[in-house]
Amino acid sequence: MRDENCIFCKIANGEIPSRTLYEDDRFRVILDLGPATKGHALILPKNHYADLFALPEDEAAEAAKLAKKMGAKLVEKLHADGLNVVQNNGETAGQTVKHFHIHLIPRYENDGQHILWNPGKMSDEELDSVAETVNS
Ligand code: 5GP
Ligand code: ZN
Repeated sequence: MRDENCIFCKIANGEIPSRTLYEDDRFRVILDLGPATKGHALILPKNHYADLFALPEDEAAEAAKLAKKMGAKLVEKLHADGLNVVQNNGETAGQTVKHFHIHLIPRYENDGQHILWNPGKMSDEELDSVAETVNS
């Protein structure tokens, strides 16, 4: 299950070299070439899935386990102060490479990054309405 035109398929399967931090038969974890911080890594499945919605449940479960394991390793080895786990789906959400991946971004005090959102405001009625829509 590969897409011939997908750069992450080539990287995950070793056709394009990468700085690999972990590999098994289903996943490769690499350093991001444009790191937000020191140690910014990407979890890539070797199979091509465009995004979270296309990812089978068992691979999603494995990817989550890897995020925990590799996130902890990055924080420990690089003496980070925190970790953001980020996963973008769709251009609107910032996805630029259409092969599912999870970002592991170690955080350091005063690293100058802003990976959080501006808190919004919503009335009780609006929140009730959103919950009703999702639950219907
Ligand atoms: P997205 O915006 O799709 O969530 O994240 C794509 C990420 O892939 C970006 O952080 C970008 O720096 C990284 N990236 C893009 N091309 C390459 C590449 O060829 N090699 C590596 N290691 N990272 C890449
Ligand atoms: Zn791919």
